[in-house]
Amino acid sequence: MKPAAFTYHRPGSVIGALDLLEELGDGAKLIAGGQSLVAMMNFRLARPEHLIDIRKVPGLDQIVRDGDRLRIGALVTHHAVETADLGPDFAVLSRTMRWVGHLPIRTRGTVGGSIAHADATAEWCLLAVLLEALIVVEGPAGRREIPAEEFFVGVFTTALEPDELIVEVIFPRPAPRAALTEFAERQGDFAIVAAAVDLDADRVVLGGVGPTPVVAGGELELRDAPGVSAHYRRGLVNTLVERAREEAAAL
Ligand SMILES: Cc1cc2nc3c(=O)[nH]c(=O)nc-3n(C[C@H](O)[C@H](O)[C@H](O)COP(=O)(O)OP(=O)(O)OC[C@H]3O[C@@H](n4cnc5c(N)ncnc54)[C@H](O)[C@@H]3O)c2cc1C
Repeated sequence: MKPAAFTYHRPGSVIGALDLLEELGDGAKLIAGGQSLVAMMNFRLARPEHLIDIRKVPGLDQIVRDGDRLRIGALVTHHAVETADLGPDFAVLSRTMRWVGHLPIRTRGTVGGSIAHADATAEWCLLAVLLEALIVVEGPAGRREIPAEEFFVGVFTTALEPDELIVEVIFPRPAPRAALTEFAERQGDFAIVAAAVDLDADRVVLGGVGPTPVVAGGELELRDAPGVSAHYRRGLVNTLVERAREEAAAL
């Protein structure tokens, strides 16, 4: 199917994008890489009247090492991270990108788009929660930094207001002994279960076990789903956490 008709806008700055969001209201949607939104529009699951294309907004495509922190602009693509030399402190980000879809998706899809889309098995969402990232957003009221654990609030639902834009994601500390692994039905599919481990922070985050990435600790409430029993999912969790731990310990 083809998308419903829409009006296309291409602002040249963050302020320009924010002005359009405010002016056009509910009928408007930002588009970055288009790798989630266009599919939703083609299936008519999303019918924005206005598309605000932010790909040409300058200043949002940088990866910057800032002391102990790593700042990744919202428009940085998965592939740019995959091929960047982030050093051992943040190499987990580059290593993990091979799990995101296929190469054409990784060359277009963006970090900000993934975080905003908030699929509970998306690798960026898991990494952000694992490494306690700050999601930096701008809106009419200015700039705010939202801890990743508070940003993801439900199924494809975030703390982002409709008139706000993600500008960057800040990873606040090095994670030299961290790893993410997952199981999907086919190469490039979203994971059925994903497990991410940071040995130094003693932190484990799971995808595919709840509506948002889940920090492991309490009892998991797993339900049967078509083709994936709760028993099978639990087995995947145990195996993948073990694998991620082994991978991280070997670094
Ligand atoms: C076949 C296929 C397989 C895939 N497999 C995976 C996978 O295994 N793992 C995975 O994580 N992803 C996967 N993806 C999705 C891919 O990673 C997308 O790139 C990502 O989900 C969205 O990024 P985008 O830049 O394309 O966003 P878009 O599709 O342009 O936008 C997605 C949403 O984010 C909003 N948005 C975009 N940028 C911003 C911003 N800066 N601020 C606020 N809101 C914003 C849009 O309004 C929209 O609601 C797959 C996609 C396809 C088509």
